[in-house]
Amino acid sequence: AIMNGKDKKAGSIAGVHTIKNPIKAAIAVMEKSEHVMLSGNGAEQFAKLQGLEIVNPKYFWTENRWKSLQKAKELEKLKNPKAENSKPDYFIIDQKFGTVGCVALDQFGNLAAGTSTGGMTNKKYGRIGDAPIIGAGTYADENVGISATGWGEFFIRSTAARTIAAKIQYLNKDVKTAAQETIDEIEKMGGDGGLIALDKNGNFAMPFNTSGMYRGAITEDGEIEVEIYK
Ligand code: ASP
Repeated sequence: AIMNGKDKKAGSIAGVHTIKNPIKAAIAVMEKSEHVMLSGNGAEQFAKLQGLEIVNPKYFWTENRWKSLQKAKELEKLKNPKAENSKPDYFIIDQKFGTVGCVALDQFGNLAAGTSTGGMTNKKYGRIGDAPIIGAGTYADENVGISATGWGEFFIRSTAARTIAAKIQYLNKDVKTAAQETIDEIEKMGGDGGLIALDKNGNFAMPFNTSGMYRGAITEDGEIEVEIYK
């Protein structure tokens, strides 16, 4: 998903297997269609028509991810089927989420947010996470841009990204407080993950309640911050 804070235009795609750069398809949905979200075959057809690069799904195969999937499947077999609300086992073996998110502020004060992911390991076929859902994993308005990673169902149920923007818009909270409160709310619900949020003055927050989150920031002056753990 991608969202432009200035005019609140947004585009997203979900459930695709052949688009080499899904974020480009999200941009095309935003700029070249009358829709916000396209999924599955329709999204792939649209991307092709827009001239985006289409690849064999094998392009996305990696040894590491294949192994995590096999481990997750084995653990699933051992799982108590009654424990529906328990944390999925694949989080135990693979704490790292696979999402890439970005928020940016330009010289004119415009904000944008983008999020791309392969989704959680061993998810059900057809499952859609928070990343492509505007207001859940991705959101931008004139005050703040947000991109989230983590256990998507919780970010959807708490409308995480929009909640942060609303706290800033209606409650005058600063970006750090709004972002931290939202992660705390997700933790209370039993979820985990993290997010990056950047406001119109260049203040940013990167809270998470997992053991780590790969993250980085660069300012106008070229000051770089890169961190993994707390
Ligand atoms: N948020 C993603 C999802 O729920 C997972 C991730 O962050 O890697 O699919």
